[in-house]
Amino acid sequence: MTITTERQRHVAPMHKQGGLEAGEATTDTIAYVRISHIVLPLKTAISDAKVLTGRQKPMTEISFTFAEIESREGHRGIGFGYSKRAGGAGMFAHAKEIAGELIGEDPNDIARIWNKLVWAGASMGRSGLTTQTIAAFDIALWDMKAKRAGLPLAKLLGAHRDSVQCYNTSGGFLSSDIAEVLDNVSRSIDAGIGGVKIKVGQPDPMIDLRRVEAVREHVGSSFPIAVDANQQWDRTTAARFGRILEEFNLFWIEEPLDAYDAEGHAALAAMLDTPIATGEMLTSVAEHRELIRNRSVDFIQPDAPRVGGITPFLRIMSLGEEAQVKLAPHFAMEIHLHLAAAYAQEPWVEHFEWLEPMFNERLEIRNGRMIVPSRPGLGFTLSEQANAWTVATAEFGKRA
Ligand SMILES: [Mg+2]
Repeated sequence: MTITTERQRHVAPMHKQGGLEAGEATTDTIAYVRISHIVLPLKTAISDAKVLTGRQKPMTEISFTFAEIESREGHRGIGFGYSKRAGGAGMFAHAKEIAGELIGEDPNDIARIWNKLVWAGASMGRSGLTTQTIAAFDIALWDMKAKRAGLPLAKLLGAHRDSVQCYNTSGGFLSSDIAEVLDNVSRSIDAGIGGVKIKVGQPDPMIDLRRVEAVREHVGSSFPIAVDANQQWDRTTAARFGRILEEFNLFWIEEPLDAYDAEGHAALAAMLDTPIATGEMLTSVAEHRELIRNRSVDFIQPDAPRVGGITPFLRIMSLGEEAQVKLAPHFAMEIHLHLAAAYAQEPWVEHFEWLEPMFNERLEIRNGRMIVPSRPGLGFTLSEQANAWTVATAEFGKRA
């Protein structure tokens, strides 16, 4: 009789979801969701090739929608989606539209919740702003699940390693002149970071070439260097410049072509010995499947907040592993370190210090590698500074 009583206490209140009622396996329900629109200012205006070709303005801030979720049993998780330049207010508005869908759901049923949220906004498409908004909730639920298990997320997923080789991107932007880039590279190496990435893709590739030559000379012949053209070459330029770059022993050429040119990337990947990397701009599993199916990439570069969170990211990891493609997630090292640690082939994780002021915790870097934190979940809590940068909040349900 005691067992029956216990079970009754843990079964969720009766509620309809996806046409089914919560079953007896349900042990907890989502009681409260708080979403925050946080705008992080950058120390200096940042430019990649999209600015030099006139397509975008320099970046001065990053907009986040954070989700904080609490369950009836007192478990908590945080996650975020982000946008650069535009879209932040739209993401927060869509999050407000769908956050109420979580209340009463079992927080462990993450896949079913993901489907519920994507169908809520599916008339806007199952990619783009729709999926990027869902990411905040999905990541928060995975954070909660790992915390509930008392494990770092990497361990919950099934880690292959406890640290991941990392490279720095923030020091190699085109808004820095070459002297500043070399200084940043030195500081990055001194900090124990295992590689550097230099932005290219300017209208005159010969100016890019001089920057790559200077960095290679600065770091010596074997230190890992990559370049990133941010989609600003056409196929001819990518082929000609790609051949010139072969001698620099780069660990990859990133986004040489338009993000949706799967055929062009495949031809380039077949032609060059230097590995090809792309995928950061894609916002669905379907788009990544296209790159993998066409053998467009040597390194696939999904971004969990962009593809809709950890649930779809895991599906991309499965596709990549089966196709023998390597993984190098884009941005948000705070999340991607855990995911990269759970990938079969040795991945790279991208080091950006930009988000550090948002959190109370810091990631440790040693001997070229980023160490998976031993804290449960993602291992991050929002800082007081992040609260100060909050421009709007909305609450759903009640704190348990
Ligand atoms: Mg990039």
